[in-house]
Amino acid sequence: MTHLLHRSIHTPPRHAVSAQGLHFTDSEGRQYIDASGGAAVSCLGHAHPDVIAALHAQLDRLAYAHTGFFTTDVAEELADTLIADAPAGLSHVYLVSGGSEAVEAALKMARQYFTETGQPQRRHIIARRQSYHGNTLGALAAGGNEWRRAQFKPLLMEAHHIAPCFAYREQWEGETDADYAARAAGELEAKILELGVDTVAAFVAEPVVGATAGAVPAVGDYYKRIRAICDKYGVLLILDEVMCGMGRTGSLYACEQDGISPDLLTIAKGLGGGYQPIGATLLSEKIYQAFAQGSGFFQHGHTYMGHPMAAAAGLAVQKVIKQDNLLANVQAMGVELRQQLQAAFGQHAHVGDIRGRGLFQAIELVEDRQTKAPFDPARKLHARIKSEAMARGLMVYPMGGTIDGVRGDHVLLAPPFIVTPSDVAEITGRLSEAVNAALQP
Ligand code: PMP
Repeated sequence: MTHLLHRSIHTPPRHAVSAQGLHFTDSEGRQYIDASGGAAVSCLGHAHPDVIAALHAQLDRLAYAHTGFFTTDVAEELADTLIADAPAGLSHVYLVSGGSEAVEAALKMARQYFTETGQPQRRHIIARRQSYHGNTLGALAAGGNEWRRAQFKPLLMEAHHIAPCFAYREQWEGETDADYAARAAGELEAKILELGVDTVAAFVAEPVVGATAGAVPAVGDYYKRIRAICDKYGVLLILDEVMCGMGRTGSLYACEQDGISPDLLTIAKGLGGGYQPIGATLLSEKIYQAFAQGSGFFQHGHTYMGHPMAAAAGLAVQKVIKQDNLLANVQAMGVELRQQLQAAFGQHAHVGDIRGRGLFQAIELVEDRQTKAPFDPARKLHARIKSEAMARGLMVYPMGGTIDGVRGDHVLLAPPFIVTPSDVAEITGRLSEAVNAALQP
């Protein structure tokens, strides 16, 4: 009996006691391969000596300083490091404690940008139906996951949703990628026109959709079109790379592969690799200048923003990724993982799609490959896969997301960037067994 409120009250999680590299150990001595990095967090694996040393050193020096009184070298160095490699135009970093906080800050920055620049009528936020941007009220309002939103709707601010770019579910038979990208992006333009061209503040999207749909990248020039539409109507583009950013897809920022830069970019999970809670909102010079030349103030803030321990973790994690050239391993192991998934599930009667980028890959389960009909949600296939995987010492991230009334089960893989080919084989082997066991009636 514990006084800790678990998310799932009737099925409390197992008890973790330690973790090293790719492996967790629980209180009964069982081992688990962390093939999801928790929720795409642990990019270096666990107990990395460089990160631990950096944290010890920071703790000895300075554990906490409120940003109302002090800045710190470590927070400034992290910001400089992030901007040095950031998409073009981004010039400043706002450090917070996680993904939802980063999204909240981005939404407020977008709004304040327009109040500072004499366009207070710009207030609408447009996002996509198949998306997750966090669980705090602003981020939840922006997100399009109906299951997460439903009971809180009366508390949520107004937000508008268009279709995601989700080839497996929404591209028409025979439609080219170029045509589909144009059709999906066209929804943004139509929504802006519907709401009133000078009333929209921002469009927010995940370059590779994570938790809600399972590693779904856009097709063709979708994001170039999105960027052009935002520019045409003076709408700010917020890219949420909380899950897909910081190297997960093989480039430091996922949007590099789409060939665009946002006005605001949110990151979290892989930024600190789980060694400390940390998130960040990167903003463009244009937005920074609006604040600097306007009120000289961003009207927001949290007690733990710019936390020195969190910044030390982020800095140490990013240094290791560079020093050990881990992005090259993400690219190589991403190809390996896709090949192994293809070999294990390419012909599987109940796997409709295998997708993703880098070490961010997913399979989608379907009742019928021909019609793409999902399994009955009552079957809770994703939950069964998770428990069968845990029984085989494998941590994966299965979800059954609600897609405008259609529910598809998928399994997301996001292993640490240090995986080897034999780890990848072990992961796909155990996943294959877990999926087949879960599919038994
Ligand atoms: N945005 C995205 C894209 C996410 O995947 C998540 C977390 N799954 C969040 C925001 C929220 O982050 P956090 O849980 O750290 O608040």
